[in-house]
Amino acid sequence: MILVGLLVTDLPSMRCTSWFSEVIPILFNISAYIREIVMQTAQNIVRKDRGSQQFSDILATGSPRTLSDIECVKNPGHTHFIPATSLTAYHLPQHFQDERWVAMIRARLADTVKLMVRYTSPHRQNQRGYEEYIGTIRPRWGSGTAFWPETCTNQIECPLPGCNTNGERHFVYGPFQVVTVAHLVFDENEANATRVEFFDDDPHCPEFVRQAEVIGIKQGPPGSNISILKCITHDSKIPEELKKANRHRTELLKGLCEPEGASMVVMISHPHGTSKCISFGNLIQLFEKGPVKTTRDGKMRLRECTLNYSTPSCVGSGGGSVTLWQSGRRAFAPHSKALGLDSNMSAFGWVSK
Ligand SMILES: [Zn+2]
Ligand SMILES: [Zn+2]
Repeated sequence: MILVGLLVTDLPSMRCTSWFSEVIPILFNISAYIREIVMQTAQNIVRKDRGSQQFSDILATGSPRTLSDIECVKNPGHTHFIPATSLTAYHLPQHFQDERWVAMIRARLADTVKLMVRYTSPHRQNQRGYEEYIGTIRPRWGSGTAFWPETCTNQIECPLPGCNTNGERHFVYGPFQVVTVAHLVFDENEANATRVEFFDDDPHCPEFVRQAEVIGIKQGPPGSNISILKCITHDSKIPEELKKANRHRTELLKGLCEPEGASMVVMISHPHGTSKCISFGNLIQLFEKGPVKTTRDGKMRLRECTLNYSTPSCVGSGGGSVTLWQSGRRAFAPHSKALGLDSNMSAFGWVSK
């Protein structure tokens, strides 16, 4: 059962609020819903490993900073990955080379996060990959998309055991959600060892990076390859920036209309765990699933889908945001896997009808 199905049909008492509001205001208004299911199912996850020496050691290693430092067989030179801070209209596909589209993509940077996973669970199924990492604390990197409900002003007591060595109560911001792929963060063991990094947009400005912590995980429906991470942060900058970006996207969407007959599939991710990059490509195929559903307020009709696209991806792009902008329909899904050099597949997402 896919999330949006639950949203529309199986939680009659739940109010539909914003989720993927950057793409389709109503469709993407479900972060409150995800927050609820994560809270219901993952409240008891405890970070037993927090503060241990082994994780402190890994934290000190940091992540790779620039793509130019990395030799890559799949994408030599990484020429199709635009550093987030370098984006101009020139980089966009024909018909989209307009400052309004540049502004829209920039407004989506804030909620794309880097995930550093510092443990690989022995419980993951074989087809999930990373077999050589199993049982080790060798770090892996990937991407995700954060959703901070516009209505959420929560400050909750810090749930992290041992966070404050002198035992004083203190408060954190959240909880909020990060959506990623299950083959990156598979279970509670891996979620407990995952760090979320915001705003790593400029490899030369690591001081801008802000951190959040994962305190729970909810897996998506079977076959969806989705994991939803419940997160908190001690850093007020994160909710400030996410709310600002959400408001900006809402404003931009009012005046944004895809050129007739044109489309693009935009990926925002952290290839190889480096600073944020943007890549562009075309839709190859869109696979729709299940019935068309109407949001509770009746304003939007949606259908579950997966996307097949040519947009370049690399190691670490998994979980990054993939957005289809097409005249007449828009869709969002996390990037899942490469099928070939110029063919990628998303995890489950949603398309407007
Ligand atoms: Zn690469
Ligand atoms: Zn704390």
